[in-house]
Amino acid sequence: VRQQMRGAGLVSPTQSALPPFRLIRAGSIPDVREALRAHPGATLAAGCSDLVAQVREGLTPHTLISVRRLPELLRAEHTDGELSLGAALTHSEGPAHPAVRQAIPSLAAAWASIATVRIRFRATVGGNLMARRYRYEMGVILGALDARMHFTGPHGDADVAVDEFVRSGAPGTPEAVDRGLLHRLTVETASLRWYSYDRSMRPVTTVAVAVRAPEAGESGGRVIATVGSEYRRPVRLSAVLPGAELTAADVRPVAARLAAGLPDWTGDYAGTADYRRHLVEVLAGRQLTAALGARP
Ligand SMILES: Cc1cc2nc3c(=O)[nH]c(=O)nc-3n(C[C@H](O)[C@H](O)[C@H](O)COP(=O)(O)OP(=O)(O)OC[C@H]3O[C@@H](n4cnc5c(N)ncnc54)[C@H](O)[C@@H]3O)c2cc1C
Repeated sequence: VRQQMRGAGLVSPTQSALPPFRLIRAGSIPDVREALRAHPGATLAAGCSDLVAQVREGLTPHTLISVRRLPELLRAEHTDGELSLGAALTHSEGPAHPAVRQAIPSLAAAWASIATVRIRFRATVGGNLMARRYRYEMGVILGALDARMHFTGPHGDADVAVDEFVRSGAPGTPEAVDRGLLHRLTVETASLRWYSYDRSMRPVTTVAVAVRAPEAGESGGRVIATVGSEYRRPVRLSAVLPGAELTAADVRPVAARLAAGLPDWTGDYAGTADYRRHLVEVLAGRQLTAALGARP
């Protein structure tokens, strides 16, 4: 199979039939930058749960740089109104981390709810985002929180909002540019009043809702919602809460306004755009009702 791959360009059916590749176990972020500089086109690897699927889709890496054990990528801390998450935290390590549980307990609960037990032990938050698959949920979960992704690479450092990243290009498109190593994610917590994630209607629709303190001139607060689906890129919605003392009757129109902002496309074989609007109105309405008087 290997000779066929090299000679005829056939796609490998499993990872065990890959041609030999160079494996670099990086020990620090500068090691990764150096390895990326020395081996252009190298593939970064964390838990490899998605890379296995990519190999089945035709990926044949010449160099794998493992970042799974970089100490800098395994940290989480909550200081000065900012939660910082290392990109190599797994779906089991992240939600169990005291900093995450203390800063945004509902984020810990949302993160712990995805995938299966076996996958949660190896799959990382960074790999989930960088795989750029619409059916993966961390883009929706972190998008509503206005999380930012911090990269470092041979050409310097960069950062981008999660929401912008997940909507900016499917794998293989020109927008899906290679920014290098994603080393951490940050979430501003000082203005966060409430957060929740509902995946009960997955795969048709998932909804993450964050309520933040009002900006100058507003009274109630700002609502940011991210709506995901298995089939197409997430959609970001926002609305302003009408006043400080809210009741359930006040938040239902806000949920309706959020749902009305959904586009007409769904790319979804299980429901129409109107059905999705209805679902989002119901789910966001429930979440906002729960938010009344509560803390994140
Ligand atoms: C059976 C199964 C069930 C699943 N269920 C769910 C689910 O319910 N919800 C959900 O959201 N997801 C689900 N997933 C997806 C899973 O969460 C992702 O596969 C996982 O998070 C990817 O992380 P990883 O560390 O394994 O990434 P890898 O496979 O190592 O890498 C994935 C991609 O990210 C790149 N990459 C990895 N780390 C970095 C980094 N630090 N910087 C730059 N690039 C990087 C790699 O080059 C690669 O392109 C499921 C997966 C499986 C196999």
